[in-house]
Amino acid sequence: MEKNSHTLSRGAKCVRCRQQAEIHLPSHHANFCPDCFLVFFQRQVFRGLKKTPVHPSSPVMVAVSGGKDSLAVWQVLLDLGYCTKGLHLDLGLGDFSEESLERVADFAREKKLNWGSFSLSQEFGFSLREIDALLKGKTCASCGRLKRGLLNRITSRQGFQTLVTGHHLDDEAGRLLGNLLGNRQEHVRKQAPFLPSPHPKVPARIKPLYRVDVREIKAYNNINTIRAVQGNCPFTKGATSPHFKEALSLLEQRMPGLKRSFLYAYLKEKPESKPDAEYGSCDLCGEPAFGPLCSICSLKKRVLSKIHSKSIVSS
Ligand code: SF4
Ligand SMILES: [Zn+2]
Ligand SMILES: [Zn+2]
Repeated sequence: MEKNSHTLSRGAKCVRCRQQAEIHLPSHHANFCPDCFLVFFQRQVFRGLKKTPVHPSSPVMVAVSGGKDSLAVWQVLLDLGYCTKGLHLDLGLGDFSEESLERVADFAREKKLNWGSFSLSQEFGFSLREIDALLKGKTCASCGRLKRGLLNRITSRQGFQTLVTGHHLDDEAGRLLGNLLGNRQEHVRKQAPFLPSPHPKVPARIKPLYRVDVREIKAYNNINTIRAVQGNCPFTKGATSPHFKEALSLLEQRMPGLKRSFLYAYLKEKPESKPDAEYGSCDLCGEPAFGPLCSICSLKKRVLSKIHSKSIVSS
């Protein structure tokens, strides 16, 4: 039988305390017992955070969907003593969204954390299902744009200067691969675990989990008994990013550590990003924008024009 590099050998010892190991990390050539794994995980995150100017005492907003990544990042920031508030954006996707909200609410209640939930329909005027029905396709692109814009806005409205997201090593390495293969050079240049605030009304963004992968996050959540949402977004099939992550996971099976070295090598030699064009104000909502309309108002304009053309056809 082919040897699986992710299987823990019998009698393996923890590299820190020499007790019985339970977690095998082939990409680090290490085995850990649960307690030492938590220390390892927190250190990985701490090492990433040390490279950002964000100090534990300055409050950060954490984008929480109820999924395993966002709850893990919230937990590890608490472990490291950060002052946090959770921000949930309700996408209005029936059972999936209800379960997501419940997971965030349970987590926050158990730990007595400050958080708030905002509805995409109320903030934007249309639900994701309505957008999907009207624009027919590319729903993930619209959703990504809305989440980015609305999370920034709400964070700034609530008086926070930093927004934390749960993007991890697999997300970042997959995204890098996709951008390189698509020759999207400006996207490549802008990819970073810390993005400083480009405008007083646009918060800085940090991705504290960029040094840990999905398996490590699952192990961390198991040990901490974190219950994350189990279902999938009904639009997941339209997303392209999983394909790049799958390709890298296949390579990682054969060459443990490849994902990590691919991302770190890029971050080490990262080319300078060209400064963004000057921000102006959106003609409709007054929020920061590069053109006459901000990204949210220009999407709304597309949705409204679809409704308008439909009503002309049906009248
Ligand atoms: S799968 Fe697509 S539509 Fe669903 S939450 Fe993710 S980006 Fe949004
Ligand atoms: Zn140990
Ligand atoms: Zn606008």
